[in-house]
Formats: sequence, C-alpha cells, structure tokens
Amino acid sequence: MVALTDPLTHKLAGFGTTIFAEMSALAVETAAVNLGQGFPDTDGPAEVLDAAVAAIRSGINQYPPGPGLPELRRAVADHQRHWYGIDLDPDSEVVVTAGATEALAGALLGMLDAGDEVVVFEPMYDSYQAGIALADARAVPVLLAPGDDGRYTFDPSELTAAVSERTKLILLNTPHNPTGKVFTRDELQAIARVAIDNDLIVVTDEVYEHLLFDGHRHVPMATLPDMRERTLTISSGGKTFHTTGWKIGWMSGPEPLVTAAKTAKQFLTYVNGAPFQPAMAIGLRLHDAYFEELAATLQTARDHLVAGLRSAGFVTFEPEATYFTTVDIRPVDPSGDGMAFCRALPERCGVVAVPNEVFYARPEHGRHLVRFACCKRLDVIDEAVDRLAQGFSR
Ligand code: PMP
Ligand code: GLN
Repeated sequence: MVALTDPLTHKLAGFGTTIFAEMSALAVETAAVNLGQGFPDTDGPAEVLDAAVAAIRSGINQYPPGPGLPELRRAVADHQRHWYGIDLDPDSEVVVTAGATEALAGALLGMLDAGDEVVVFEPMYDSYQAGIALADARAVPVLLAPGDDGRYTFDPSELTAAVSERTKLILLNTPHNPTGKVFTRDELQAIARVAIDNDLIVVTDEVYEHLLFDGHRHVPMATLPDMRERTLTISSGGKTFHTTGWKIGWMSGPEPLVTAAKTAKQFLTYVNGAPFQPAMAIGLRLHDAYFEELAATLQTARDHLVAGLRSAGFVTFEPEATYFTTVDIRPVDPSGDGMAFCRALPERCGVVAVPNEVFYARPEHGRHLVRFACCKRLDVIDEAVDRLAQGFSR
C-alpha cells in the first residue's frame, strides 16, 4: 500500500495544534485549575445574555446580512465615537466578523500577496503568524522586551530596520496579549511615523480595549494624526462581555480597507452568530459604569494573581491591562524551559499555564517565559497560587 503523503499545506507546516487547545485539554484531563487559555469563568451582563435568548425566541435565526446586522454596525460606530471620538459610517466602514480572529484572517488574506512582508511585534497572539503564513506572506518580528523597570517596550531602530520594499502592513495589538502592555501615545506615534513614511497600512487588534488597570488609557491607532485613512481597527465582544464562545467581532476603518478585508472574510464564514449580534449591540451600549466595573473587578483579580505568583517565587511582570500576567520561571526552574514547565505543571501543581515561546517568531526570546490568566473567580486564582506556592516550596 502506498502511504498518503502529508496532506497539510506547506504554508501550515509546523503549526500543529494551538497551544490553547493543547493546554485546555490537559487541564480537563488532569482536573487542573486552568489559568492557560484566556476565558472568564463567570457569565457576562444579564441584559446581554437575555437579549440573545430573546433574539433566538423571536426568530433571528437565519443568515444575517453579509456585513452584519445594521443595529450592531450602528452600535460599533456609536461605541467608537463615544469612547474615542472616531466617526464611522456604519454602512460602509463597519463589518461584523466571526470574532476578532476572522477579522484578522480576512485582513491578512484580503490585503497580502505572496512574498509581502508584515511587521509585527513579538510576542504575538498565535493566529497572527498562521494568518500571515496562509497568505503566503512573511512576518518580520520586532521584539517587545521588558526594560529595567519591568515594562515591555521596543527599540524604535529595530522597527525602522524591519521595514523593506516588500512591507505592506504593520500588525499591532494594544492592549497586548500576552505581555499586558498598553502602547503609549509616544510609542504609537513612533509606529505611525514609520507607517506614514513608508505608506503602510496598520491593522490594529484592540480586543482588550476595556480591560485596563491603574488608570492606563487605551489609545486607538486610528485617532493619531493622519492615521485614520491607513488603519483597520479590529475588536470583539468576547472579553468585554464574557462571551468568548459567541465569537462576535468587528472591523472598522476607511471603506477601502474594510472592503479588502471583507472580500476575503465573506468566503471564510460568510456570516455568523445572528442572534448574538443584537445582544452584542446591547452590550456596546451599556452604561460607562459597566465597563469601569469590568476593569476594576479584573484589576483585583490581577492583583491576587501577581501577588501569588511573586510569593511562589517567579519574576513577575505586572500587566497594565488584559487577562494575562507573564512570569520568568528561572528562579523556580533553572532549566528555563517554559514549554516543558507548562507540560509538567498540571502533574506537579494542578495548574495549567501557557508557554510564551509559542507567541514568538524567534522562540528563543520567550523560552523562559510563561503566561497565567487572571480572568477567573478570586477563589479559583487563590487556589491556583496556593498550589503553585506549595509545588515550588519543596
Ligand atoms: N486577538 C487577541 C490579542 C486575542 O488575545 C484573542 C483571543 N481572545 C483574539 C484576538 C481572538 O478574539 P476572538 O475570540 O474574538 O476571535
Ligand atoms: N485569546 C485567548 C488567549 O490568548 C484564547 C484564544 C484561543 O483559545 N484561541 O488565551
């Protein structure tokens, strides 16, 4: 019998199974506390959940319009104006997607040609490298690394040097997974300068826009001078409304960029989640107090996690935003092998975390780093950090 040759496209060689699927399966198998994959363990606002149930009951169960239900597109436009002063035409400048993930894939597949280059900050959310690979393009990484103050930042000269004749776009994520960094206005200005000088598009993933701590402010790239016309902004409701399984996202920006991304997007899912779309519109229109409380609650969880990780002996980089805290494992595990550490952690301590090396184009930069999520109930976080403290006191 002739063996079947590996059917996987060369573009996805080496991608394997995502770390989130692997680590969440391990958590279930070992009954460990899952601080790996970032999903909350409590439900979101009742108004939003009730609106989805009502939508199903009232028959919003067929294909929504290609660009998404008008009421959600209007809510996205109103949200961008309310929070950031960005004006959008909901009919031509907003498209609803199957989560931010599909918006990212649509943008990359809709804008990149084979051999094009994408400047991207590493570490990065894992779908970025896969999306760029599917487009047969090349990721050119710029390193985010902690400075002496523990704050992640980049070297502007590395950013300038990363741009070549083949660069088509810069892919940005702020607030940032997995570092918890919020790009400052000055940092964004430096990136905008490079984009403008080299006539590049910026695709910006802002899914953690409302999960900010300690008074940090989210500055959307599209609000910087001369950037609106070259910026495609992506977000989703999974984090903001504790509905990661609904996969309702959106992209917004100037019509040519939205149209390019939508052209690819329409052949990925076409549309998704009809009854969740009006519910998301209700969420986006919730009172400011909801968003403030969301961030404050998560900040308390962050504080529990950071304090616990520090007392368990890790070098801990305090996040400014997001679900995630990164630690350097070397004080408790001199091998500094984060992947091996995470694979052994459920057996050793009954806790699951994610090795940051999967978020790097050059994994050696993240080998000793591991990510823990704080989007869990306080008793769950406390239990996890107790287990870690016990596991590493021996
Ligand atoms: N971007 C970043 C930075 C993320 O962390 C995630 C994961 N939640 C996504 C995009 C994907 O978002 P969604 O679940 O809306 O597809
Ligand atoms: N964004 C979440 C994380 O980084 C989960 C993503 C996923 O499961 N694909 O953990």
